[in-house]
Amino acid sequence: MRMERFDRHPGVRVAFTGRAEGNQAAHTGLSPREVAASRAGLAATLGVGPERLSFMHQVHSALVAPAPAPGQAAPEADAIVDLSGALAPVVLTADCVPVAIAGELRGHSVLSVAHAGRPGLLGGVLEATLEELRAAGVTRLEAWIGPAVCGACYEVPEQMRAEAEERLPGISSRTSWGTPALDLPGAAARILAEAGALIHATHACTLEEATWFSYRGGDTAPRNATLLWAGHDRSVQHAPQPGAERTKEEEQ
Ligand SMILES: [Zn+2]
Repeated sequence: MRMERFDRHPGVRVAFTGRAEGNQAAHTGLSPREVAASRAGLAATLGVGPERLSFMHQVHSALVAPAPAPGQAAPEADAIVDLSGALAPVVLTADCVPVAIAGELRGHSVLSVAHAGRPGLLGGVLEATLEELRAAGVTRLEAWIGPAVCGACYEVPEQMRAEAEERLPGISSRTSWGTPALDLPGAAARILAEAGALIHATHACTLEEATWFSYRGGDTAPRNATLLWAGHDRSVQHAPQPGAERTKEEEQ
C-alpha cells in the first residue's frame, strides 16, 4: 500500500492498496462475507469508518454518479462524486488507471474517483467527471494518478493504437520491446492538467511491480483499491504515513 497527500487539500489522504491488502473486489469470485472482511480490514488499517467506503459498479463507461451513501446500492458508473466530502469513494483496478480527485466547495472538501481504462478514457470518463465537478461549482482541483499498466508495457494492435491517437493525441506509445502501445496514465494526466487540476502521479506500473495486482500479469480476478477521504481520522492525526514525503519528489 502507498499513502499520499494533496497539496491544496491538506486534510485529504489517498491510499493505493495492492497485493498485500488483498482483493477488494466484490464481482470477482469472493463471497460477500470475504469481501466484507477484506473491506473492513482495509478500513481499519486506514482508520476510516467502514461505513464511509463508497463503491461503484464499474462498467467501462463514461457514466458519472453521486457516490452512494451508507446503505445505498453501488451505482453503475465509472466515476463517483461525493460533494459532501463525508465519504471515502473507492475505485477498483488491475491495470486500468485509477484517478482520485479532490476539490473544494464552499470551504469543504469534495472527493471523487474515476476508473480510466482504455474504453472509459477514450469515451471521456475524465472529461465527464471534470464537467460534473465544474457544474457543481467545485474549485481547486487536484488529482492523483494511481498504479496502472504503463506506456512501455500496454501493448495493443496497431489499428487500436492509431484510433486511440486520433481521439486522444499523445496517447500513442511503444512497448519496451518495440511494439505499438498506449500510455493510459500519461493521457489521463494530460486531460486533468488541461482542466487546470494540479497533478500527482505514482508512476507505478502494475505489470512491472509485484506490489500490485495486474490483469495482464495474470491477476484476472483480484483488484487494487484506490480511495480518498477527508477529515480527522486517528491514523491521519497521529501516524503520518511514510509515503507522504514522496509527494515532492514525484512532482519533479
Ligand atoms: Zn510498465
